[in-house]
Amino acid sequence: MKITWLGQGGFLLESGGYRLVVDPYLSDCVRKKEGLARLHPFPVELKDLKPDCLLVTHDHMDHLDPDGVPRIHEAYPACRFAGPDRSFQHFLALGIPETQVTRIPMNSTYSFGPFTVTSVFAAHSDPTACGYVIGAEGRKIYLSGDTNYDERLLSDSLRGMDLMLVCINGKLNNMNCADALKCVKALHPKAALPMHIGLFAENTADPAPFVEGCGALGIRSFAMTPGKEFEL
Ligand SMILES: [Zn+2]
Repeated sequence: MKITWLGQGGFLLESGGYRLVVDPYLSDCVRKKEGLARLHPFPVELKDLKPDCLLVTHDHMDHLDPDGVPRIHEAYPACRFAGPDRSFQHFLALGIPETQVTRIPMNSTYSFGPFTVTSVFAAHSDPTACGYVIGAEGRKIYLSGDTNYDERLLSDSLRGMDLMLVCINGKLNNMNCADALKCVKALHPKAALPMHIGLFAENTADPAPFVEGCGALGIRSFAMTPGKEFEL
């Protein structure tokens, strides 16, 4: 499976030629609406994104981009959209035909091409927000989405993943580095990578303490570079 960080909480996952895009923030709409400018451009040109499915964890602009989603729908009319309830409603409001949108209730599993996607608990200010366990090629990724620390994150079903992608920015209902390391210690994935950082000067964190903390636990980690692909 190929993984490319798209910045913030966004990822491009590729398996068998199928491209699952999660939480892509393409536009600069948060600057227009809340005054927070993006620090780096979206790392993939729209013409190269080629999504088969766009999956979101929740209905906030840096995950369900209300300026970016219509552009993706226009460029890729066959692309499927999926997310929990508020996101489902937002996709419809943005003009995506209902036949092309999958509503994902909590603790449910769907298939998108070769990927299985299971929604899991998250504690965030969108009450329908979720994380996902995403599987393909016999590997499993736990993507935390945006979430505060909560003991319900420490579920047995999330233990021992091949990769955990976890928010560490520590603001606006998200775990900080210490919270994220508590989860990593309890869930003990094979690798854990810090995310939801680097896009807004007002809402970011240094990944180095997280990477060092993982190293001390014997868990592989590194600071990702937006747009640079790696293999799982
Ligand atoms: Zn966010």
